Amino acid sequence: MAVQPYDPENIFAKILRGEIPCGKVYEDDHVLAFNDINPQAPTHVLVIPKGAYASFDEFSAKASDAEIVAFNRAVGKIARDLNVAEDGYRLIANTRQNGRQDVPHLHVHIIGGKMLGLMLPKE
Ligand code: AMP
Repeated sequence: MAVQPYDPENIFAKILRGEIPCGKVYEDDHVLAFNDINPQAPTHVLVIPKGAYASFDEFSAKASDAEIVAFNRAVGKIARDLNVAEDGYRLIANTRQNGRQDVPHLHVHIIGGKMLGLMLPKE
């Protein structure tokens, strides 16, 4: 199946354009991070690149070195700043259909603040 083109009407694109609000926790030239609207743990933050990338594979292939460095540094900085680094946390990037991605703009979930369940539920 062909990869779909980026949808500029996805909700994170609207957040980036300032059309809808978010609970911002971090921003730089290339990255925005905000609290998930439906948190699954005491800390649940979404980190997104400002560029129009739907997935990590697309981002890693097409983004500039500066964007990739900024994104990776931001994820680690946010984990430290939110005080989940020491006790531990989980990074999740659901991707497309099999990964059950709901919003088609690359986002990494930073989830922590409590002991998490198994990585994947038993089917
Ligand atoms: P995913 O299934 O990985 O695409 O996750 C999408 C995430 O975006 C879910 O955890 C939602 O709760 C979250 N979400 C959807 N709309 C918003 C919003 N307006 N602000 C913050 N988080 C949102």
